[in-house]
Amino acid sequence: RSEGMSREEIVARRRELLLPNLSISYDRPIKFVRGEGVWLIDDRGRAYLDCFNNVCHVGHAHPRVVEALARQAAILNTNTRYLHDNIVRYAERLTATLPKELTVAGFVNSGSEANTVALRLMRARTGSEQAVVLDWAYHGTTQELIDISAYKFNRKGGKGRKPHVHVAPVPDSYRAPSDWPVEEHGRRYAESVAAIIEDLRGRGEKPGFFIAESIPSVAGQVFLPEGYLQEVYRMIREAGGVCIADEVQVGFGRVGSHWWAFETQGVVPDIVTMGKPIGNGHPMAAVVTTREISEAFDNGMEFFNTFGGNPVSSAVGLAVLDVIEDGDLRANALEIGNYLMAAFRRMQDRFEVIGDVRGMGLFLGIELVTDRKTKTPATEIARAVSNGARERGILMGTEGPHDNVLKMRPAMIFTRANADLLIEVLEDTFAAVLA
Ligand code: PMP
Repeated sequence: RSEGMSREEIVARRRELLLPNLSISYDRPIKFVRGEGVWLIDDRGRAYLDCFNNVCHVGHAHPRVVEALARQAAILNTNTRYLHDNIVRYAERLTATLPKELTVAGFVNSGSEANTVALRLMRARTGSEQAVVLDWAYHGTTQELIDISAYKFNRKGGKGRKPHVHVAPVPDSYRAPSDWPVEEHGRRYAESVAAIIEDLRGRGEKPGFFIAESIPSVAGQVFLPEGYLQEVYRMIREAGGVCIADEVQVGFGRVGSHWWAFETQGVVPDIVTMGKPIGNGHPMAAVVTTREISEAFDNGMEFFNTFGGNPVSSAVGLAVLDVIEDGDLRANALEIGNYLMAAFRRMQDRFEVIGDVRGMGLFLGIELVTDRKTKTPATEIARAVSNGARERGILMGTEGPHDNVLKMRPAMIFTRANADLLIEVLEDTFAAVLA
């Protein structure tokens, strides 16, 4: 059974009609025709368990979100220059999930826009362009964001590091120098940021900002060592800079224990950016900051965003928060995440190739190595496991500088039965790939 164009035809037409560097997942691309909860259904009627897409945060086509969207779209959609309840109701609900200092929101349409507005806020407050960023980070698709994304500027097609950008190593405990005591990882990695600040000072400069994903994801699902952000935020602020938390992938309760991943580090950023899961697939994003920074930004130039914060988007955002809260989905993420972590650890005992398992809530990574001592990345095996899982009906990704980290971010409604299926398929796949 097939609906619409064949897979081959779409690939051919895309080649003709779309920017050629738009990528496609898997060597043998999949055509999906429907999504429902944790499932994606392809054009042949096969259901895949989606363990990868963190945008459909409360599940594909969640009826309550779809209904909120359709209902508001049928009544009114317009821009924020007219008064409407939804944007203030949403701003109130969203900021209520954040620490008390973070009270002022701006609404846009993508994570990139949120980070771009964050940089404008930062400039208004600090007057400095000097950026401290983490290696292998990605913050968005515009040129100014590519310039602060080592994942882009240091890779094929990139133009290298610009002089105002300073790259600190990924604070990856698994790959820390072996003579560093574990409890010192946070402080030791933060020393590299101290060195950058010192170097800037020597040149009569100061950092404008530090930006990091609260759990570096593009860098391979890396969990920051305890105390790292506390130390870095303190140093950046002392030197006159602001701290930006990119929660585009990790926010909205995914970590389970908290609404925001930065909270697991015991810090409060000056600016938080959000995207992906915020609208469960509807294109919306936000930046939230302090009263003080918002006032520095209010310099006479209007802030306007045609679609940002419109009544439909705000209705969608409200529905997503309702679903998370009413379903106690943070608690679910924590419970199922812990269950998966325990299973992955058992798998690690069985399969030598699993060098490290890490996760918080439903943000999970399994790092594969060909040798546990040398920690040589098992890139090909990771690829084979991801492809093998897909053949068995489960979607996940690979991530990290060596693409050797299996990456999983299932929807917040993931059940124990879904988890059992994931565990069973992963075990079968490892066994088959390593046979
Ligand atoms: N920040 C992070 C951490 C991201 O992962 C992404 C998207 N992959 C972005 C920002 C940019 O978001 P968008 O694609 O919505 O512009």
